[in-house]
Amino acid sequence: MLFDIHTHISQFSHEELDSMRQRWHLNNVGFVLSAGTNAYDSRESINLSKKYPDIFAGIGLHPTEINEDYENQINDVFNLMNDQVITMSEIGLDYLPNSPDREIQKYCFLRQIEFAAQNKLPIIFHMRNSNEDTLQILEENDDKIITGASHYFQGTLKDAERIIGLGMYVSFAKTLLRDEGLQKIAQCIPIENIVLETDSYPQYFKKNRQRWTEPKDVLLVAEKLAVVKNISLEKIIQKTTKNSMDLFKLSS
Ligand SMILES: [Zn+2]
Repeated sequence: MLFDIHTHISQFSHEELDSMRQRWHLNNVGFVLSAGTNAYDSRESINLSKKYPDIFAGIGLHPTEINEDYENQINDVFNLMNDQVITMSEIGLDYLPNSPDREIQKYCFLRQIEFAAQNKLPIIFHMRNSNEDTLQILEENDDKIITGASHYFQGTLKDAERIIGLGMYVSFAKTLLRDEGLQKIAQCIPIENIVLETDSYPQYFKKNRQRWTEPKDVLLVAEKLAVVKNISLEKIIQKTTKNSMDLFKLSS
């Protein structure tokens, strides 16, 4: 069964969850991580993981959610820590032009890396237009980091090698289906360092509900990876799920 290591399913209307779960079960998806982007979202993810055996919870403050009250925002997330939480997610750096102040982002990222270390949690990190600074912070704090994954990976082969050098995983999403540069990177790096995701969130901008990305679509990413790496789909599923279990320290 497949593991979707990064989604925002807590943001979907809760009435949709049962049908979404049916669809992902039909597509051989057995495990879905619900990531938090702020304290509210993180609490929702914990609630889902309590309710459903195939949903797991991450907590975190996403870089684009940071506001001037960031000290309280961070503490509100930290206060949610309990046994349901298996990762700090989603954290990281986002350097789009309108994103929050970069120094504050770095501070929040570092605080959350340290919190993950204290609680022996892996980190699932976001890096958008910020690869150099993100990787530098991770390398400087290598001794604190348990393990982690670069979610929605969009970078160079060198970036991927630096992530693997830190003992971390590269997570591919549906962009693998069309991005030839990413396909080349997926070809070059070992399957032992690859995990899969959809980053599903409610895509209100798509009028046709059936075209929204859902955890069921992680099967499409696995199928593409099988073609790109010339490995059977069965093996891709088995390996990437084992990697995900190792990443989150879950026993399969
Ligand atoms: Zn995300």
